[in-house]
Amino acid sequence: MDNCIFCKIAKGDIPARLVGENELALAFWDVAPRKPLHILIIPKAHYSNVVELTKFDEPSLLAVMKLASDLSEKLAEDSFRLTFNTGAGAGQSVFHAHGHLTSENPKAGL
Ligand code: AMP
Ligand code: ZN
Repeated sequence: MDNCIFCKIAKGDIPARLVGENELALAFWDVAPRKPLHILIIPKAHYSNVVELTKFDEPSLLAVMKLASDLSEKLAEDSFRLTFNTGAGAGQSVFHAHGHLTSENPKAGL
């Protein structure tokens, strides 16, 4: 989608600190991390939020969840949060579906 910053990252048009991907999803560091581990997981296709993603593209939803699960095992020591802010009132500022994978306890060496 034009003018969507996460679509531009998915296409490689603007840089991001990538940490993983699969066929339908991509993960990269949040540009302004608020936890010791703060990664964003996005579907490569554009949906404005996680509800739209769930309604219209179950394969991409599953890809997002699998990538988040893989990265939680790889990067978080023992606990993590996976948060989908949905709607401006909940703090959503980028209207391309994304999960925040955050942890207070990243694995050593991150
Ligand atoms: P939300 O407020 O839930 O929509 O989350 C959007 C997140 O995207 C925020 O935590 C921002 O710091 C992050 N963000 C915005 N632009 C970029 C970017 N170009 N690269 C990485 N993260 C970004
Ligand atoms: Zn987008």
